[in-house]
Amino acid sequence: MAQEQAVIFIIFGGSGDLAHRKLYPALFKLYTKGYLRQHFAVIGTARRPWSHEYFRQTVSESVANDLGDQAQVASFVQHFYYQSHDVKDANHYVALKKLAQQLNQQYQAQNNQIFYMAIAPQFFGTVAQHVNSEGLLNPDGFNRLVIEKPFGKDLTTARALNDSISATFKEEQIYRIDHYLGKEMIQALPILRFTNPVLEAVWNCHYISNIQITLAEALGVGERAGYYESAGALRDMIQNHALQILALLAMERPTEFTSQAVHQQKEQLFAQLHHYTLSEVDHNFVRGQYDVDRRGYQTAYREADNVPDDSLTETFVAGRIFVDTPRWHNVPFYVRTGKRLRQKATRIDIVFQPETNNIFANYHKQKILPRPTVLTIAIEPRQGLCLTVNGTNPGLGLRNSLQPLSFRQSDGSLANSQEAYEKLLIDILQGDQTNFTNWIEQAYTWQFIDIIRQRWDQITPDFPNYRSNTFGPSKSDQLLAQLGHEWIFGTDSF
Ligand code: NAD
Repeated sequence: MAQEQAVIFIIFGGSGDLAHRKLYPALFKLYTKGYLRQHFAVIGTARRPWSHEYFRQTVSESVANDLGDQAQVASFVQHFYYQSHDVKDANHYVALKKLAQQLNQQYQAQNNQIFYMAIAPQFFGTVAQHVNSEGLLNPDGFNRLVIEKPFGKDLTTARALNDSISATFKEEQIYRIDHYLGKEMIQALPILRFTNPVLEAVWNCHYISNIQITLAEALGVGERAGYYESAGALRDMIQNHALQILALLAMERPTEFTSQAVHQQKEQLFAQLHHYTLSEVDHNFVRGQYDVDRRGYQTAYREADNVPDDSLTETFVAGRIFVDTPRWHNVPFYVRTGKRLRQKATRIDIVFQPETNNIFANYHKQKILPRPTVLTIAIEPRQGLCLTVNGTNPGLGLRNSLQPLSFRQSDGSLANSQEAYEKLLIDILQGDQTNFTNWIEQAYTWQFIDIIRQRWDQITPDFPNYRSNTFGPSKSDQLLAQLGHEWIFGTDSF
């Protein structure tokens, strides 16, 4: 049975999309599972002058699709309160503090508070500053700050943002969300690596040829063009999600599985990312922007609302990254992300070294050419593992064929799995920062990304350069071909 947590949530941006689409459904799940029961309340704040009742109505609607009977939804939303609030108005924080104190008494929330920034990033600093100056922190319980991406747009802005929040909150109180770190199969990576000696023994440059991390989306930019135009795929997906996955795959073994030990290894790993010179970027990173599809059914990025006709924003990135450690000597980590690709999939393909001593080369004049073994870790929409090995098919003669040893989570077990936000909220309630990013990691990853961005800003790309419903520009395939590699996703069927 789940351990109940006593807490007051203060959600800045409580009327917004993130709060309604992700946060409230996840809180409702925690309620149905007993992590939240009697001793909690949620204060939603935003500019609009809503009543508590109206706010509760919107929250009911946002959780309506989640299983749970109406009585349960009704009792859940009774814990919700609304406070009309302008982030820049000091008086509003005084009112907010009063409400939080009153609810703390009423619900016996043990002085614990979670401040959740579901609001535009330019307000994070202002809110943190007022939380401090208007005395909203409660010294008798825990005070935790939850921050959404983007965490800056380069090292300079990320540092300014960090300075502005860390004047109020200490690093151990800050939970920077990277929702990929809440995904089931990404959380499974350390278990896979560090509890299976058979894998750990080959997890190095002697056995691994290259590692491919793909975050492919089938959809276009949709309604997020305003934000996306100022970000692009490099900042939106590679700086955070792709590099965080890379760190979990490449870091050294932590002494124990604690937040401190894991972050120590991740920081060291990020410190050892090989930095390119500006001109090296051209050989190691590819960018793209989607065009219409071959049949003309899908529109180009430049045709989307709020996107200029001559936009130079990239919707696709493929890159080759090296890690300067003995373990990963000369092993390329390929990262790839894009919108409007042929298939939605988040996956990792670990390609092992090919057999170089082929004893079957002349066997009965048959061509037996072993292929590299591949371990595929499917993260979404499927979840599973597949080890593709050389085997044989029954029949005349001896011929090799690729055989998948695969395991896929069933639909039934997926239905019981926890959504990323749900897992991350449980971590926040329990004070576990393992699955969040810290400032040092942010600083290292921005440093790495800034060089690529700087180079790209010097050169005007020839966009659009890939059709919707493909796997991106042909240069992405050439990037791998340069070293005799090829993308596994796009050529296999798992
Ligand atoms: P949104 O525009 O839907 O909501 C913004 C909220 O902020 C609203 O409640 C609005 O009333 C409030 N707000 C705006 N100006 C205010 C002011 N001056 N004073 C007080 N409140 C004010 O935005 P969103 O999509 O919910 O995104 C919120 C945050 O989450 C952003 O940092 C965004 O980058 C991040 N994020 C969102 C998503 C998503 O799926 N929506 C995904 C990842 C990260």
